[in-house]
Amino acid sequence: MSFSARTKAELCEIEPKKDCCLRAECYGAWLFSRCFTLLDAAFTTESAPAARRMLELAGAAAGVSGELTYAFSRRKKPSYRVTLPDAAARRQLLETFGHTGRESSLGINRAVLENDCCTASFLRGAFLSCGAATDPQKDYRLEFSVPYQKLANGLYTLLREVEVFSAQPLLASRRGGYAVYWKDGGQIEDFLTWIGAPKAAMELMQVRMYKEARNDINRKANFETANMDKTYSASARQIAAIAAISDGMGLGALPEELAQLARLRLEHPDMTLRELSAALGISRSGANHRMQRLLELGEKLLKDQISE
Ligand SMILES: [Zn+2]
Repeated sequence: MSFSARTKAELCEIEPKKDCCLRAECYGAWLFSRCFTLLDAAFTTESAPAARRMLELAGAAAGVSGELTYAFSRRKKPSYRVTLPDAAARRQLLETFGHTGRESSLGINRAVLENDCCTASFLRGAFLSCGAATDPQKDYRLEFSVPYQKLANGLYTLLREVEVFSAQPLLASRRGGYAVYWKDGGQIEDFLTWIGAPKAAMELMQVRMYKEARNDINRKANFETANMDKTYSASARQIAAIAAISDGMGLGALPEELAQLARLRLEHPDMTLRELSAALGISRSGANHRMQRLLELGEKLLKDQISE
């Protein structure tokens, strides 16, 4: 089952506690179905619980009954279709929410959202009807896809008024309609919790925390790799200088304290300067000073070789 389908199934387990909220959810669900007019009222979904709930809500809120049919889509996914074949039922449902069905385009009738408690229920209905949540393993995205501009604007405005959390959704027009959406994991979690899907919100949060922890580890690993590169390139430069000394005059011609460090470096190309100093029982700055003398001498010899 997809993340979207799991979320919808979770939302459909909620028992509406108050009549006002039941009406609000029913309104959200039918208003955001693709088709809600006097001529036709229909809704297609991949979620069986959402399809059943559309009918239950219509029955409970307006006393109308409809039909549920089942088919396989071209992609072999089950598809549920809810319709109100009876014209009187369509009129009844529209009028319950203050619409005639003859409006050129429907907007949100705010009078249905009588009380503050109703907004979350209304949005739950809207999500069941036209919402989708991307699997958080792939991306953070929750969107309502709305076919009509007036309705998309109404939803966008309503969401921005929600004071429970700072909703701040985005609105985009695209081929065949409009999208009202979030791309922020934290805001999606807040929204899912608020409309009654805390399990889905928790799933999203766990994925997000796991990803953040993994990014942290990657950042640290990159940092260590970068440091290792530094050690190696410094070491390579030192070895080149020491090799030039060895070729040009022989390590035996060096003062003993320099010769010791030079031999140790040749034997241990991967040691840091601190480790070299520890092995010699001298301070890091002492080792650094000696290494600088080796580098100067070796690089001077290299330069002379090249210019010869
Ligand atoms: Zn209410």
